[in-house]
Amino acid sequence: MNFLEERIQKDGIVKEGNVLKVDSFLNHQMDVALLEQMGEEFKRRFEGVKVDKILTIEASGIAIACMAARYFQVPVVFAKKAKSINIDGEVYVAEVESFTHKCKNQVIVSKKFLQPGEHILIIDDFLANGCALQGLISIVAQAEAVVEGIGIAIEKGFQNGGRTVRNLGYRLESLAIVEDMDASTGKIVFRQQ
Ligand code: 5GP
Repeated sequence: MNFLEERIQKDGIVKEGNVLKVDSFLNHQMDVALLEQMGEEFKRRFEGVKVDKILTIEASGIAIACMAARYFQVPVVFAKKAKSINIDGEVYVAEVESFTHKCKNQVIVSKKFLQPGEHILIIDDFLANGCALQGLISIVAQAEAVVEGIGIAIEKGFQNGGRTVRNLGYRLESLAIVEDMDASTGKIVFRQQ
């Protein structure tokens, strides 16, 4: 098991409805040393890949993206969740359905911060059905920038997102892939990588 799998095994809590709670080290309280290790690991996995910017989505992706950005030495742009539809034309917009909150949000990125031809690494905390990721991919496409890779902290391999995104030809690296989890026993099984 790698460092993140070990931590999930120790402190992750399996909830009903296919939700893995990691709020003691990632989603609420944050273990900064662990985040730092994740940033370093993303740099190792994407060694040699040209990256001009890291794109993530608020809120939980931001800390991980920032740690990775220290290793890549590039800026982070985060897509903002915009409840109002007061979009002024100066932003790229994508519709994202939240897996955990079951609501639809528009996410926006200012056109100033994504330029045509830029090489983008997308980073997020979780990959479930892939809706958040598809929104970010759509925003990069609207900007005519290039997705060079996608780094995910925790992929739930029993949901569709990972397969869909890999089938689209994107290079997707997940630090931990949960193959199976059981709310009644708390058991978590990881995919061998
Ligand atoms: P997707 O769009 O891939 O279905 O879901 C991804 C987003 O939903 C992530 O950005 C994350 O915030 C949230 N999410 C999905 N599954 C889980 C989960 O099991 N636990 C937590 N804490 N967040 C999740």
